Amino acid sequence: MKIRDLFREGRPLFSFEFFPPKTPVGEAALFKTIERLKPLKPAFVSITYGAGGSTRAKTIEWARRIKFELGLETAVHLTCVGASRREIKVLLDQVEAAGIENVLALRGDPPRGETEFKPAPDGFRYASELVRFIRAEGYPFSLGGAGYPEGHVECRDREQDLLHLKHKVDSGLDFVITQLFFDNHHYFDFLERAERVGIRVPIVPGIMPITNIQQVQRFTKMCGASIPRSLLAELERFGDDDQAVLAIGVEHATRQCQELLDAGVPGIHFYTLNKSPATRLVVRNLRVPVRKTA
Ligand SMILES: Cc1cc2nc3c(=O)[nH]c(=O)nc-3n(C[C@H](O)[C@H](O)[C@H](O)COP(=O)(O)OP(=O)(O)OC[C@H]3O[C@@H](n4cnc5c(N)ncnc54)[C@H](O)[C@@H]3O)c2cc1C
Repeated sequence: MKIRDLFREGRPLFSFEFFPPKTPVGEAALFKTIERLKPLKPAFVSITYGAGGSTRAKTIEWARRIKFELGLETAVHLTCVGASRREIKVLLDQVEAAGIENVLALRGDPPRGETEFKPAPDGFRYASELVRFIRAEGYPFSLGGAGYPEGHVECRDREQDLLHLKHKVDSGLDFVITQLFFDNHHYFDFLERAERVGIRVPIVPGIMPITNIQQVQRFTKMCGASIPRSLLAELERFGDDDQAVLAIGVEHATRQCQELLDAGVPGIHFYTLNKSPATRLVVRNLRVPVRKTA
């Protein structure tokens, strides 16, 4: 089913993000994670696309297996990194042939050690170009894209970044999923600004329950998100105690998600990092209010 149609049903949608594992041990662990998260009835799960396109075939294969063997709706992530238009078209054909109906169209990050994104020869410079291409070629996918409540790291001017998002949405996106954030104020402010520039598609908050301090500091440094001072101080107080850090992370994410649901968000996208405990605890804690049909 297409994600744009799922949003029309009006209930807040929970979705879970996974990455394609690199080893047989990782594969077994991901199957176990999905088994444990499936009872939470996610509306869809999404499978990331490795940096530099390193997981191309695996991304599609995992999405296909999760959809047809495990019975969960899926979306594949796809980036412009290192691929010409022709190569991207081949990939899109494979996605369609695999029976996948949803694509998250992304630009991707510059390779490690480089600060500037360089498009591949005859490739795309921005995700909006990929979106336009997918629409122009007539693919039937429901298309999502990325949004940045605190601004994208490469664009200092948040208003300009938002106008780029507007352009990307107008190129053919059905929905937006945000980068992770730990203070809902950033999301609500982003929503208000998006409304003001005329972005009308669902903007789904991306939430990552914190389970490890070093890891979250690495991620936030990479993607430009901030950790509230008080939360960081609390985490640092229990730094080496994994259980205590998990409890703080779950409590914080639960509070964030409940406030977002109470405000009527179209859904919540969980960055699971292929692990189930934190996401499971958060979702179980939530009261889901009934939202009016859009
Ligand atoms: C939900 C989500 C899922 C993700 N999944 C993956 C994944 O699976 N694999 C992966 O490698 N990465 C993934 N990423 C990371 C993403 O690839 C990076 O954040 C990347 O740096 C930007 O991708 P984008 O699609 O947002 O790019 P774009 O929308 O193209 O934006 C990139 C930059 O270009 C600027 N820009 C856009 N249009 C213009 C224009 N016309 N003129 C000038 N500047 C412009 C923007 O302001 C921004 O600074 C994901 C991110 C999110 C939020």
